[in-house]
Amino acid sequence: MKRTQTAITVLLAAGMISVACKKSADSTTTTTTVDANVPEVYKKIYGATSITADGSYVYIKTNGTPDHKSVYYATSNSLYENFSGTTFGGNTFSKNPNSISSVSYTFKIPLNPQSAANKSATSLGPIGVSLNGVPFFNQYANTNQPLSGEIVSFDQWWGHPAPTGEYHYHVEPLYLTTVKASKSALLGFLLDGFPVYGPTENGATVTNASLDAYHGHTSATTEYPNGIYHYHITSSDPYINGSGYYGTPGTWSR
Ligand SMILES: [Zn+2]
Ligand SMILES: [Zn+2]
Repeated sequence: MKRTQTAITVLLAAGMISVACKKSADSTTTTTTVDANVPEVYKKIYGATSITADGSYVYIKTNGTPDHKSVYYATSNSLYENFSGTTFGGNTFSKNPNSISSVSYTFKIPLNPQSAANKSATSLGPIGVSLNGVPFFNQYANTNQPLSGEIVSFDQWWGHPAPTGEYHYHVEPLYLTTVKASKSALLGFLLDGFPVYGPTENGATVTNASLDAYHGHTSATTEYPNGIYHYHITSSDPYINGSGYYGTPGTWSR
């Protein structure tokens, strides 16, 4: 017990330091409130404003705004940064008309994810949450069309806002894989509770061909040494998730 408390204290102290450092540069600094009964792994969602749990679900609240610079922030925001040139997939960037808004999200995610007997498709809108609190979206654009027409509007960190301002990632969250974590790191969770990892594993690039129809597989990971089903983000369509959730999804609300 004592060891656990010490570890939490150290984590909190580290969190405070990072908050203090960020304050001068960022206008969207978040302070996370985490209940004592929340399993350690969810504390990796550093962009959450609060994380709580009951016997069945973890509740992750975020404001959905990225902690990195974006051309989609208002020019008056300290995180605004102009961008032009090449974005995801070697495409020439073309800005969409939207701008980033804060959203009060609650992601309700099963604490003990299980394979669902009947798999359900993902919907448009959030399908999960990433480490910085920005939602993951699926591989389709607004009209359930392939994403190809939207990719040109991915910003310097490969996210973009919807018409109503919700910033989101359809593909690898580049800031998380290159600045905050790594290409092989845990990057978040889908709504069914299964974790999402980056595009490399054991030093090799993960391809769609090595994953199942839901874009995952089962093996040991750093956070789950006994093995768990997990999704991987890859560089080609469907990027994060394939033919739906492997488990039974929780919900999100705003
Ligand atoms: Zn989108
Ligand atoms: Zn894996």
